[in-house]
Amino acid sequence: MSTFSVKAFGAESKTADLKQMNIERRETTAKDVEIEILYCGVCHSDLHTARNDWGGSIYPAVPGHEIVGRVTKVGSEVTKFKAGDLAAVGCLVDSCRTCNSCKQDLEQYCLNGFTGTYNGKDKHSGGHTFGGYSEKVVVDEHFVLKVPANLNLAAVAPLLCAGITTWSPLKHWNVGPNSKVAVVGLGGLGHMAIKLAKGLGAEVTLFSRTPGKTDDAKGLGADAVVISTDDAQMKSVKGKFDVIIDTVPYVHDVNPYVTTLNISGTLVLVGYLGGLEPILNTVPMIMGRKSVAGSVIGGIAETQELLDFCGEKGIVSEIEMIKMQDINQAYERMLKSDVRYRFVIDMASLKN
Ligand code: NAP
Ligand code: ZN
Repeated sequence: MSTFSVKAFGAESKTADLKQMNIERRETTAKDVEIEILYCGVCHSDLHTARNDWGGSIYPAVPGHEIVGRVTKVGSEVTKFKAGDLAAVGCLVDSCRTCNSCKQDLEQYCLNGFTGTYNGKDKHSGGHTFGGYSEKVVVDEHFVLKVPANLNLAAVAPLLCAGITTWSPLKHWNVGPNSKVAVVGLGGLGHMAIKLAKGLGAEVTLFSRTPGKTDDAKGLGADAVVISTDDAQMKSVKGKFDVIIDTVPYVHDVNPYVTTLNISGTLVLVGYLGGLEPILNTVPMIMGRKSVAGSVIGGIAETQELLDFCGEKGIVSEIEMIKMQDINQAYERMLKSDVRYRFVIDMASLKN
């Protein structure tokens, strides 16, 4: 496989700061699109991977799966893109394309395992994949998305993960104008969940630990804010919600939120991966036909559907632009929930 070298930012170990390095990208094959990355969003999963929070990180780890940029080259069999087009890449760059899930456009549930944009097994190189904290990326056109031309490009980047991760469960659980939706945690995923649920016509409530975010949440479209540490406020929404999207990244007590579900309601965990503590009480679930479910990102067709919806409705992320060199400070601020509401890296800074 012939390759070329690009500048990137990555971590050499779970305790190391991210720093500049060079990585190899493959030369475009027949079905590949080569993209110059203009902006890349900063997801909490990037931090989890750089610091090996989930185990299984491979180093050097180059995170980044909220990628927007411009096509610089296409392979001979590419039909959807040409040089000069805007293009986007999310969390997936490959899957088997033949299993039952892939055939249903559910590549994120590929039965043979999807290839993540970073830290995935790269079928071309035999090594692992490197993400969007880099100058360029080369991806099979099936996994490349079209970007609506009317939106602020930098603010589109977070739609590729924070957007699709909340859109997919909102759609799966049929959220629409008569739904009452709650969102737990106002960060990258949470603020997109509010905007998208509002865009679908739902009544939306935010659960937050942080009183200082109330005005912002309302500005984003939330109809109400409940401070989750205030028992009286929690009781006031007992039995209310049809769907709750829980974006909290670390282990937390889910039981108080289950009691706020309506009969037959569903709480969808998208943030925390792992065993729940304290243990989940089945009584309110059984006595109210309630579900606690999970969901991971979204398929390629569904991601395109989301981008098109955002183009029509004028929905983008609220962003704070940073330089690539500021990534380590950005991670520290993310850990303190001090992001309003997504960092996006201006990749031009990597050229300096
Ligand atoms: P983020 O921007 O850091 O936002 C998380 C929010 O959760 C914070 O703003 C905070 O909101 C709340 N929070 C943080 N720590 C908490 C704690 N210990 N207890 C209670 N609430 C807490 O993170 P993000 O980028 O939105 O990602 C959220 C999680 O989703 C991460 O774990 C990420 O890896 C995961 N993720 C999953 C998928 C998927 O496909 N399922 C995709 C992308 C990301 P308040 O200040 O309002 O309380
Ligand atoms: Zn992500």
